[in-house]
Amino acid sequence: MQASFEAQPLSQVRLRWHKALLFAAAFLFGAALPHSADAQAPTFDLVLRNARIIDGSGKPAYRADVAIRGDTIARIASTITDPAVRIIDVGSHVVAPGFIDVHNHGRVGIFRLPTADNLVRQGVTTAIEGPDGSSPVPLAPFLQRLAALQKSINIGTFIGHGSVRERVMGGVNREALPEELGQMRALVEQGMKDGAFGLSSGLIYVPGKFAPTSELVELAKVVGRLGGHYQSHIRDEGGRIIEAVQEAIAIGEQAGVPTQITHHKAVAQPNWGKSVDTLRLISAARARGIDVTIDQYPYASTGASFPTYIPGWAQEGGLEATRSRLKDADLRAKIKTHTSRILRLGAARGDLTKVVLAQCTWDKTLAGKTLADIVRLRGSTVTVENGAEAVFWIIEQGACEAVTRDSLSEPDIERILKHPATMVASDGNIPGPIGDIVSGVPHPRSYGTFPRVLSYYVRERKVLKLEEAVHKMTSFPARRLGLNDRGAIREGMKADIVVFDPARVRDTATLDDPKQYPEGISIVTVNGEIVFENGAMTAVRPGRVLYGSAAGSKSKP
Ligand SMILES: [Zn+2]
Repeated sequence: MQASFEAQPLSQVRLRWHKALLFAAAFLFGAALPHSADAQAPTFDLVLRNARIIDGSGKPAYRADVAIRGDTIARIASTITDPAVRIIDVGSHVVAPGFIDVHNHGRVGIFRLPTADNLVRQGVTTAIEGPDGSSPVPLAPFLQRLAALQKSINIGTFIGHGSVRERVMGGVNREALPEELGQMRALVEQGMKDGAFGLSSGLIYVPGKFAPTSELVELAKVVGRLGGHYQSHIRDEGGRIIEAVQEAIAIGEQAGVPTQITHHKAVAQPNWGKSVDTLRLISAARARGIDVTIDQYPYASTGASFPTYIPGWAQEGGLEATRSRLKDADLRAKIKTHTSRILRLGAARGDLTKVVLAQCTWDKTLAGKTLADIVRLRGSTVTVENGAEAVFWIIEQGACEAVTRDSLSEPDIERILKHPATMVASDGNIPGPIGDIVSGVPHPRSYGTFPRVLSYYVRERKVLKLEEAVHKMTSFPARRLGLNDRGAIREGMKADIVVFDPARVRDTATLDDPKQYPEGISIVTVNGEIVFENGAMTAVRPGRVLYGSAAGSKSKP
């Protein structure tokens, strides 16, 4: 005899508990297991029946059943009738690998909300931290804390170039001395051996922007030797975007390391259309054998932090040093000229209503206000110069994150998304539960990135086929990270799975009301356990820390 539970609606109960019940029932009712309990054990823990499998490879969808045992996809067949602890008929919905977010800022948020609801509810099962040159240094204590945390998703990290440089040199604006470069090399190597997937850089931020290309080449070499890749927020995404893309390619070529241009975009109206040239450069480099890839978030509005409105020389030494420069009348005037120029010619194009405060840690009521609102609140008329003064005031108070609305063009977004070297990543974070005011009014990418690609760019705009889009969210990023056991629906792979209705999946997060979860996603499993079902997070926390290929290897003498 065979026993199985058909489509149990109990979402909060652990599979293990089901299994215990099954054994108890079999025992009490005299089922044939006098010698061995194993003889009666269900073959599988979970079977997803009537799946439309999109396996992540980009190949067409096909019908099958998927069986999971432990944390692994154990069997895929047209019909699976073996006993299972739980069988769910997914009613021809898509069964795809869980999405892998290769650029995520959830370092703080994962400890506040270890269920990472905003990611899981999008179908994300793995997030990679340490982007834009910023990570803990050293990584080991952070990774140990993460490993000890009971969490719903898998998480890994980069080692950040800016953080490494800061550790060795502070915030100075100069080239590294040979011994400093040696120390940075050692820290990057240690980061890789602690488990980083590669080196990230943020070359618009202090201190990353003070580093010459040669420094990045030297550090990227270390990463390449240890099987990692280089992911860069490039030096300029506006007027000098072409040169910045050329630099990222050159770093990959000279260091012999796979290189990735992260959240690729052409910012500010005069630069719209430049993705034609950047993609041409990238395609040409790939044709020469340089392993260049791209990631992208699917929104026309960008995120920014206020120090990026200040010239690099005025940021040398960090925020405190910037504040003391602003107290010097001559320096303040000089900085104001530059900041006004950025407000006029940069992403906002002189329109202060486009810069919307997302989160100010020192005054939560400011979230949702525009830079124009801040100017008015300070009793001034709305001009670019007064906007610069408002930027200074914000920097003097503390720090703020902001969203700059409509700073990108849809044709660029679609062109980049279509490119075969492009994968999808959110650039978002883990802002906390809905209703939480601490996280302010964040960029909607934290809540909607992956469903937005599936609904708007696949279903409505038909920029990608569904299978292509899933590939860009799963197998492609998994390959980039060297994760050989994730990112595909295949026997033997880890059971990170998302089930969604391709006709209904959609993002609902908007710029004005970003804290809204997507629709059309019914089940998410991480390492074989259901973390999301029937519209709710479950009680299990099966997430793991994922480590790069050099993790645990011994230092070279
Ligand atoms: Zn960035």
